[in-house]
Amino acid sequence: MKSTMMSVALSLNDLLERAASLFPQSWIVSRLPDKSLRTHSYAEYYRRTRALAWTLARLGLRKGDRVATLCWNHHAHLECYFGIPAAGGVMHTLNLRLAPDEIGWIAHHADDRFLVVDDILLPLYRQFESLHRFERVIVVPFSGAPVATRAGDPHAGEPAVDDYEALLAQASGHFDYPAHDENDPVAMCYTSGTTGKPKGVVYSHRSTVIHSLIAAMPDLIALSGRDVVLPVTPMFHANSWGIPYAAVMVGARIVFPGPHLQPQDLLDLMQIEPPTLALGVPTIWLGLIQLFEAHPGKWKMPAGMRSMVGGAAVPEALIRSFDRHGVRLAQGWGMTETSPLASLFYEKPELAGTLDQDQWFARKALAGVPVPLVQMRLIDESGRQCAHDGTDVGELQVRGPTITGGYYAVPRDPEKFSDDGWLRTGDVAAIDAHGYLRIADRTKDLIKSGGEWISSVDLENALMAHPSVAEAAVIAVAHPKWTERPLACVVLKPGMSAEPDELRAFIAPRFASWQLPDAIEFIEAIPRTATGKFWKLKLRERYARWEWPD
Ligand code: ADP
Repeated sequence: MKSTMMSVALSLNDLLERAASLFPQSWIVSRLPDKSLRTHSYAEYYRRTRALAWTLARLGLRKGDRVATLCWNHHAHLECYFGIPAAGGVMHTLNLRLAPDEIGWIAHHADDRFLVVDDILLPLYRQFESLHRFERVIVVPFSGAPVATRAGDPHAGEPAVDDYEALLAQASGHFDYPAHDENDPVAMCYTSGTTGKPKGVVYSHRSTVIHSLIAAMPDLIALSGRDVVLPVTPMFHANSWGIPYAAVMVGARIVFPGPHLQPQDLLDLMQIEPPTLALGVPTIWLGLIQLFEAHPGKWKMPAGMRSMVGGAAVPEALIRSFDRHGVRLAQGWGMTETSPLASLFYEKPELAGTLDQDQWFARKALAGVPVPLVQMRLIDESGRQCAHDGTDVGELQVRGPTITGGYYAVPRDPEKFSDDGWLRTGDVAAIDAHGYLRIADRTKDLIKSGGEWISSVDLENALMAHPSVAEAAVIAVAHPKWTERPLACVVLKPGMSAEPDELRAFIAPRFASWQLPDAIEFIEAIPRTATGKFWKLKLRERYARWEWPD
């Protein structure tokens, strides 16, 4: 017997069309380089996005061609999110925080044909233009300054340079979407290479539509047309967690912070455009809450704001701090490879009434439960599947329609995929009987001491609960007797002081004595990766010659 259902391809174009017909009066707000705000209605957004698709087709974009973006979070970048796939192209977001050589390497590896770049990022582009020749560079006049266009010379390898706004103004208005299959590519992101060479993940119409539907669910982000969404996570990193697609799908008001991501700028923006939902990595929120609490009365936390936080472990202390100001943080776990939302905190009804407030906070510090359609399993070093009892830890492996099954132009690597087709995440985790995921560490960050494992994440979270500690990162340092021992790098809050013994005593009740860091170093700042996470590789390099006392 055959199903009687229509076999209609899942398509981002359908989300765009619906948004235009149902939400023409919703708004997209962008903060410009001079900090003023520019506002577009969804009706304008729709017209401009299709004008972009029309333009790309006129410029000769073929199906599957890559169009790179080097842009901050703003309306034109959102136009690329839907406009490039609408023309049959693949949007490839370049991470502007990477070293120029690395950006050039990635653009070349992806064989990007065109580039859409903010005018204020042209100096960065010039630092890697020799590594990859785009055929055409389309400049967004984000700062308002005129764009120096030129015809280009293919023989001399000189790209044509166009003004994004002038191109859009020339578009005819009539555009037919090219036919596509739901598995056709729409976007690609490279992993940021924190633990290896960057690798390209290619998302499809199908995976992106499914991810948007999942993310918006009431038990997950509960995204709706009544929301005001502030995506602080960069659109060039895991597609700002896919939320721009989902926000357009539901017609939410979207407030883009542009290049202004300092805590002060974000707090200022929240006063003018109070969000109901804000997205960011823990390091951004750590800085923001510290500034907010250091200046009582200067800013207001938007009433009822909620926030999805992930990309790195979220300290319980951070969740409690925001809660004191009426903001609920929900921790999620994911990777560039998983679209990225794969698990998110959810208050299971069966637990309501059984947990006290402290127990809820402890649960919120876990990485949530798997989202629909994402399967998770834990495999230990001997290949055995671990029990879901909250303590049995193994490598987290995932599978599902929003998970990548390989990397662009890279042979299949058994370190990244199991023989039976699951993605090996490189994270070490436990899952409890209620289905909550606890990320113990990245495989490479675990500390192996005398044959036992110590979780750097647990130590960091405990240290960051101390009132004098702004940030803490714990690394493994080679030890002649124990193989490795933990060394904690701690950044104190301005004007605060603490002694190593005091910090050790503070966290001691939560750990066995052999798990406590042997050394606590006070440093100025913890190095950050291009995506704003603690860069432990740099710390490991810094302490590579560390000598433990006898
Ligand atoms: P990278 O960190 O290399 O830039 P991704 O942005 O894809 O790459 O990050 C994926 C990784 O981030 C995961 O494998 C995991 O180690 C970490 N991560 C994401 N969310 C969480 C979380 N809630 N808790 C702990 N680690 C997390």
